[in-house]
Amino acid sequence: MSQYLTLGKFSFGLGDRFGQQGRAQLQACVQAMALGAEVIPVWNKSNREHTFIGTEPSSLRAEADAAVKALGWNKSYHVDADHIRLETVDRFIAPSDFFTIDVADSIGQPAATADVNSFVDRHPELTGTVTIPHLAQSFSLTRVEVERVANQFLFAVQDAGKIYRHIAQAKGVANFVTEISLDETDRPQTPPELLIILAALADEAIPLQTIAPKFTGRFNKGVDYVGDVQQFEKEFNDDLAVIAFAIRQYGLPPTLKLSVHSGSDKFSLYEPMRRALANFGAGVHLKTAGTTWLEELIGLAEAGGDGLELTKEIYADASGHVDEFCAPYASVIDIDKKKLPPASIVNGWSSTQFTDALRHDPANPAFNPSFRQLLHVSFKVAAKKGDRYLNALKKHEAIIARNVTENLFERHLKPLLLGK
Ligand SMILES: [Zn+2]
Repeated sequence: MSQYLTLGKFSFGLGDRFGQQGRAQLQACVQAMALGAEVIPVWNKSNREHTFIGTEPSSLRAEADAAVKALGWNKSYHVDADHIRLETVDRFIAPSDFFTIDVADSIGQPAATADVNSFVDRHPELTGTVTIPHLAQSFSLTRVEVERVANQFLFAVQDAGKIYRHIAQAKGVANFVTEISLDETDRPQTPPELLIILAALADEAIPLQTIAPKFTGRFNKGVDYVGDVQQFEKEFNDDLAVIAFAIRQYGLPPTLKLSVHSGSDKFSLYEPMRRALANFGAGVHLKTAGTTWLEELIGLAEAGGDGLELTKEIYADASGHVDEFCAPYASVIDIDKKKLPPASIVNGWSSTQFTDALRHDPANPAFNPSFRQLLHVSFKVAAKKGDRYLNALKKHEAIIARNVTENLFERHLKPLLLGK
């Protein structure tokens, strides 16, 4: 596992659906740096997003390079092929230097019996009582239980190995960061499961930099965490303990850390995360995406005139297609249809009424999470407007950039890295 590319201790995933906010996003990292918090920007875009918007992965590389040049950023930065698989990775290989290998769909598919047996034979340390420093409880597994967990995850890990080697062969091991994502599955992984997954990933000789497990609770798009914050904090600490242990036990890269997907707007989690990371001296990767597109809408609405008109048009179209737009995101949004204002009302709103409803400020009584989530999943409406939308972004660039930077810096990086 030598010579692989490593990721900085704290890194921040910047998704930008329309590719216009790279500089404004990077500016948030510049501001964090000025306060002493070094955070490495990673521009991420999934195959699904590229397909919806009609962009190519090379456009993300061009955006990142241009932003870095414009702001004179002299730390490292990366371009993440987010949620790729063997079928989708090829067009990402040249422009990307960070690959999020998504194996969630392979979880639960049984591995070959001989492979499961040799995994369990190779890892006698997993059978019996396993004591991990700082884990809330030690656990004890029988050989049959280790086999059962291996059956659940070994095939997915082998799948990850295949995709990793495909990229490594094409690109060279030294030229990219590897993340494995397990988040788009139906239940959180337990500490013994995470340990077994990491043991298997080490066997595949994947120089893993980040792993995205599934956490407890709901990580809805663009709104705060819904779930038991204390339980999340316990699981997050447990995951950190397991990772620290697995790094030593299995020789995984010392830079291995957690990645939190759908990480934007999870205001109630940043303080517990910050506490846990400080306890372990650990870093983290936090991915955001759609929160920036919503700041584009906020900026357009704030601009008034044709900008506000355009946001109203987008909402009117979205509110006519609620079921259609929400269907692909059913597990990551919670919209109360009764709370969606009719388009005829919104059409009469002022700039302030529109931005108060949309901006993620839980202290503002006019903030409407259903309105925000519907717009979050309605970026296809803006994509359909083509140049008209892009030209509006250019025309109102200054006001939008201010909102994009402020959102990422004040509401995300500051509470996560520096505390309020
Ligand atoms: Zn994800």
